Amino acid sequence: MKQSLHECTLADLESFSPKQAPLLSHMIFRENALNEHPNLSSKLVQKLKEDFQLTLPEISQVHESSDGTYKFMVRFSDQLEVEAVLIPFHRRYTICLSTQVGCAMNCQFCYTGLQGLKRNLTAAEVVGQYLVVSNWWKDKNTEALMPNIVFMGQGEPLHNAEAVKRAIEVFTNPHGINLGQRQITLSTAGYLPGIKKLTDFVPINIALSLHSPFEDQRTELIPINKSYPLSEILPPLLELGKKKKKFLTLEYLLIKDFNMSDLHVERLSELFSGERVFFNLIPFNPFPEARFERPDPVEIDLFKEKLVSKNLRVMVRTTKGDDILAACGQLHLEKLRRTKNANG
Ligand code: SF4
Repeated sequence: MKQSLHECTLADLESFSPKQAPLLSHMIFRENALNEHPNLSSKLVQKLKEDFQLTLPEISQVHESSDGTYKFMVRFSDQLEVEAVLIPFHRRYTICLSTQVGCAMNCQFCYTGLQGLKRNLTAAEVVGQYLVVSNWWKDKNTEALMPNIVFMGQGEPLHNAEAVKRAIEVFTNPHGINLGQRQITLSTAGYLPGIKKLTDFVPINIALSLHSPFEDQRTELIPINKSYPLSEILPPLLELGKKKKKFLTLEYLLIKDFNMSDLHVERLSELFSGERVFFNLIPFNPFPEARFERPDPVEIDLFKEKLVSKNLRVMVRTTKGDDILAACGQLHLEKLRRTKNANG
């Protein structure tokens, strides 16, 4: 199969022709076409058409939620599918992208973790996923701005670090999709070999799925914490934040009677007081076979206030798309379940 132009960075396009790279970027990423143009050499267009392809993945399903969230199943040429979610957030939409089909991390609160890893996505597939969803959105809303990106869908992005790094370089090409570094957030479960590679990435926002400050309890939720404990992953992540002058976002699932005690507040304060971190509290989004429960709003407020009283920066994320199972991996499993039921 021919290589995709969707994984070409600006530097790659400049290697074909420094002068024509900006126009090529516009055509590939804004128009998804390579046409004759008075400012492009016909020979170069011909050569690129012979050597590369511009095929995008397909959207196989769209589910709309009552809160304005859309969830998509995106199908690649080998018929495997991932999910992408378009979420209304502040003034523009954000697309939650997948980076792998399935996931090897086996987090206990996540449906995708139950499926295991099928394969990595290529950089072109990550970019293609963004383009089909944002094109779909632009067809509905001609005035829509290019959506921001969070890498929080299926897969551990740093377990597929090379492809994700390349895709981020494509997203930030100023002549193509033209997202700013602050418009992209990568969330990791704490895969240390990938964390070590972050120093070579364009400096985007980084989020860590923390969920507990205690090693044993975190391992219970995120099994890779056994191989890569907090004691090893926090120093490089906090150091990176200092170096790049960025806040590290700490994603913290709020689970009833599990990780919201005063002991948790004390330990979080010991670990993070004075650090450039920001807590994103996420009330657990229950799914059919989940062994955890969502806390009630009073418990959520109390936990938040206790963290604030320790001078930690905190916000509570309102869960979008509950009615279409928008938490990572859930739509896919629902579909599998329905298929299984249909087959008896
Ligand atoms: S939460 Fe993310 S890293 Fe963990 S199993 Fe699910 S997809 Fe993988």
